[in-house]
Amino acid sequence: MEIHCYAAMKEKARLKEFTYEPMPLAPFDIDIEITHCGVCHSDIHLIDNDWQLSEYPLVPGHEIVGTVTDVGVGVMAFEKGERVGVGWQSGACYHCDYCMRGDHNLCPDIKATCMGNYGGFADMIRTDSRFAFAIPEQIESENAAPLLCGGITVYNPLRSFDVEPHMKVGVIGIGGLGHLALQFARAFGCKVTAFSTSPDKEDEARNLGAHYFIPLTEKGALEKAAGTLNFIISTVHVDMDWPAVLNVLKPKGKLCLVGAVANPLVIPAFSLILQQKSVVGSPIGGRMAMREMFQLAARHGIKAQTEAVPMTDVNTAVDRTRQGKARYRMVLKN
Ligand SMILES: [Zn+2]
Ligand SMILES: [Zn+2]
Repeated sequence: MEIHCYAAMKEKARLKEFTYEPMPLAPFDIDIEITHCGVCHSDIHLIDNDWQLSEYPLVPGHEIVGTVTDVGVGVMAFEKGERVGVGWQSGACYHCDYCMRGDHNLCPDIKATCMGNYGGFADMIRTDSRFAFAIPEQIESENAAPLLCGGITVYNPLRSFDVEPHMKVGVIGIGGLGHLALQFARAFGCKVTAFSTSPDKEDEARNLGAHYFIPLTEKGALEKAAGTLNFIISTVHVDMDWPAVLNVLKPKGKLCLVGAVANPLVIPAFSLILQQKSVVGSPIGGRMAMREMFQLAARHGIKAQTEAVPMTDVNTAVDRTRQGKARYRMVLKN
């Protein structure tokens, strides 16, 4: 079997057609005929070798939706013809303390769908069924694909840092991650505040679930919001006035980073000590978290807002994502 895909042959290169033979079908593997694959900022970082971990040829793609076309002898969860999704993680050791607790996303032996493996900018993928997830019928494949990485990235912190319905939650950055975070925080029952440097996103942010909108372009905007929120998810990749952001938190509040800011955060110790605040981070989510996320999304009509293009236009989708022009996630369609 030959898999047809799109690969970067070197750092920052345009993607080109590429084919490969998959490894033999292992007992827990499934084959997925890919219908949709989201384009995530991490794909761009991999293509550009921003993390100095990329190996070429590199086939990006880790927001995969498609149909099961073959199953290994050990696969009990899926049958041929079922619609499934696969996100960033494609494997774990299954026996470390973290895996045993269900925190597979924290496994030291985490395997990634498109690092060390060829990913989902392709017509097929052969992958471990234990990291494939059934997609509720209420969610269209195009809107489901970005939930597999973008969605779980913002759902998991709400869940694992015990955000409760009475709380007030802020979302910094209304883009690929932020537009999903607003929807999930609203579904949790929270009062939701959107922070954005684009004042023109106010109406959209409110439609997505924000009760309040704070334009970061306004001088003193953070100061005015001081002491109002219990939990803030920051999705941005750029530097912020972090002490001012921490000042927006109530006592015991948490600032959770899911956007990978390049520069170290400079935070005065007293901004954490006096009101017992914390700065935390969160990577994707475990297998159960993924299942819960899809259930919540189906129940509350949460979906990614997408711009779909044919898989053959992969470089257009990559460019729009790299330039931050997608509203809000690009999805490739076969
Ligand atoms: Zn493990
Ligand atoms: Zn991703």
